[in-house]
Amino acid sequence: MPPGRGRKKIEFERADRLKKLPPYLFVEIDRKKRLAQKRGMDLVDLGIGDPDLPTPARIVEKLRREALRLENHRYPSARKLEEFSAAAARWFGRRYGVKVNPATQVLPVIGTKEGLGHFPLAFVNPGDVVLIPDPAYPVYHSATVLAGGVSKRLPLREEDGFLPDLDRVDKRTRARARILFLNYPNNPTAAVADRAFYRSAVEFALENRIILVNDAAYAEIAYDGFKCPSLLQERGAFEVAVEFHSLSKTYNMCGWRVGFAVGNADLIAGLAKLKSNIDSDVFGAVLGAATTALRTGGPHLKKTLRIYEERRDILVGGLREMGWDVRSPEATFYIWLRVPGGQGSVRFASDLIRSAGVVTAPGVGFGEMGEGYIRMSLTCGTGKIRQAVRRLKKAGSRLKS
Ligand code: PMP
Repeated sequence: MPPGRGRKKIEFERADRLKKLPPYLFVEIDRKKRLAQKRGMDLVDLGIGDPDLPTPARIVEKLRREALRLENHRYPSARKLEEFSAAAARWFGRRYGVKVNPATQVLPVIGTKEGLGHFPLAFVNPGDVVLIPDPAYPVYHSATVLAGGVSKRLPLREEDGFLPDLDRVDKRTRARARILFLNYPNNPTAAVADRAFYRSAVEFALENRIILVNDAAYAEIAYDGFKCPSLLQERGAFEVAVEFHSLSKTYNMCGWRVGFAVGNADLIAGLAKLKSNIDSDVFGAVLGAATTALRTGGPHLKKTLRIYEERRDILVGGLREMGWDVRSPEATFYIWLRVPGGQGSVRFASDLIRSAGVVTAPGVGFGEMGEGYIRMSLTCGTGKIRQAVRRLKKAGSRLKS
């Protein structure tokens, strides 16, 4: 029968696991943003966390040369993967003073989102509990749901420095938990973890036989000379933990899709087995350019950090002048702000669009504990940030009412 005529449209029902995924929580803000743009409003967008700066020219040039090589037109070669893992292991050793075996303790991923998104499929059985911070980057929960697991939220409270209180996890939950996800430096709160916290998290994981995953996508985005520690620097960490590192923010390579997992060899092997059934690794030319980034990207990163520092100081300074009690972030390119007057975060973010033309991310989009906060990002130029401050100041009295 020819398609279409006389036949009812076939409805393809989605799998139950897909239906269980939470709705996209920034819908309302996106709608307000589009509406304002339609009305001809010129918006300053501090809502998204996608670096605006270009990838260093040397890395782009390496990609251009790699793209011309026949080897890279085929499936990624073992040689390219090994070279990348070796560069990642050397980078990790230089950066944290921790020696890792590139063959067994490092795995390239197609961006940390891919690695984190697939990890629970390799280690979570239906009904297993996964401990997830709240607020959080949404992938930990989605990945848990897709693996048939059950998320248990660990609140991140301002008074605890946005670190989860692991002592509060009850016995039953500890017994059922398979994974504890951490993310430091943290999106959205911009909090950093110190070595004492990592030590207690490793002890918790060892004691309860739980896998520890630290999403370190922002590990290199830190200011005033501060260097974030790695979870893997703690004694016993290699028995229970993996850490995910990304090139996206460090070298302004979000679009390139490349990062790596590093840590316990069995966890790395499990994720590698899962991935080998789903994808065929990172494009060889990207691997080649990413290898160059890990080997030579240090000086460029310093410049990037100075740029973010300047933006941070303008925005934090401006907000403080307006009387907002703002913590200046030590790391990440986010500012996590308490909404004045106890208003809802979606309502407040909508008001900022309407009255100041400034887009922010409402905290509740990152989880219930994010309610009462908004997130601003430093991923636009100083001109735009100054403009945002001027507009917020102008709208200030209206916002506080
Ligand atoms: N983790 C966090 C906390 C993030 O905010 C993001 C991206 N915004 C990612 C991981 C994903 O990064 P990648 O580009 O490496 O997939």
